[in-house]
Amino acid sequence: MSSGIITVVGSYVVDLMSRTPHMPKPGETVLGGPFRMGPGGKGGNQAVAAARQGSRVCMVTKVGNDPFGQAAVKHFQAEHISTDYVFVDDAEATGAALIAVDDNGENMIVVALGACGKLSAEDVAQAEQMIKRSTVVLVQLETSMEAVRKTLELAGTYGVPVILNPAPYQPIPEELLKGVTYITPNETEAFLLTGIEITDEESAYRAASVLYRRGVKHVVITLGKKGCYYYEGGPSGILYPGFHVDAVDTTGAGDAFNGGLAHALAEGRSIRQALRYANAVAALSVTKIGTAPAMPSREEVERFLQNQPIDTTA
Ligand code: AMP
Repeated sequence: MSSGIITVVGSYVVDLMSRTPHMPKPGETVLGGPFRMGPGGKGGNQAVAAARQGSRVCMVTKVGNDPFGQAAVKHFQAEHISTDYVFVDDAEATGAALIAVDDNGENMIVVALGACGKLSAEDVAQAEQMIKRSTVVLVQLETSMEAVRKTLELAGTYGVPVILNPAPYQPIPEELLKGVTYITPNETEAFLLTGIEITDEESAYRAASVLYRRGVKHVVITLGKKGCYYYEGGPSGILYPGFHVDAVDTTGAGDAFNGGLAHALAEGRSIRQALRYANAVAALSVTKIGTAPAMPSREEVERFLQNQPIDTTA
């Protein structure tokens, strides 16, 4: 199968991580360590997940005129991701996520979006021809709402399907939802978007129908290790069970899922096959520590799927 172009409009931040014996209280300094630094941001992570599956990926984001911004460009190039629309902001620093993980595995994160929070409608408009040529457009809510709006507008103009991963949660103007082809909230985001708590298939169905009635054509609610629930109208949806793996770090699972989904759809797979593929990319990502570095390759995903029981739902 030949893969088309995926344009990802989203965030890049540098992840600055440290272990800590306990979370500092206000005013307290804790001696932590070891320290790790790496590429992050939902948009960047999803771009890497898709590119590692063999898709041609173009990243639309904004970084600062600083060493972290230069490292971002090198990182994308090393992952064979086009940086033609990685804009540089002279006034803002590259975004950063300050992450502390304690000995119980709990984390505390402060994300300073910096330059990528300033991604504007004008910036996105510069990528118009790339969006036009894309097979799939993938966007999250970690830049600015005006960038999201422009992305949906351009994709709509050229009839390019858009996946909106509504993360981190922000209220979405109603009229924007009508331009969304696939929405991929996790359980928390689905609750915040609909007011319906997801506890089982029936509540997933109710939440998905709310989003469907608001104008989204395909609703995919991710359910952690339980997999994902898919709804496209009618009296019920379908649960695609997650794969059993030894999970060591589930951060970035949603990013792996979205990158995998975008790739599989761009490759022309049916939605059923695409959701199974996305579940597999995400399951493999949780078997490794980290976000972007934990994204599996296409070979790993295909080998993994070959060893799974035959899919009876596809
Ligand atoms: P979440 O954002 O937690 O809903 O996870 C996104 C996707 O990652 C899910 O739809 C699953 O495909 C996958 N996933 C998350 N956690 C696990 C796990 N512990 N084991 C297998 N797959 C997982």
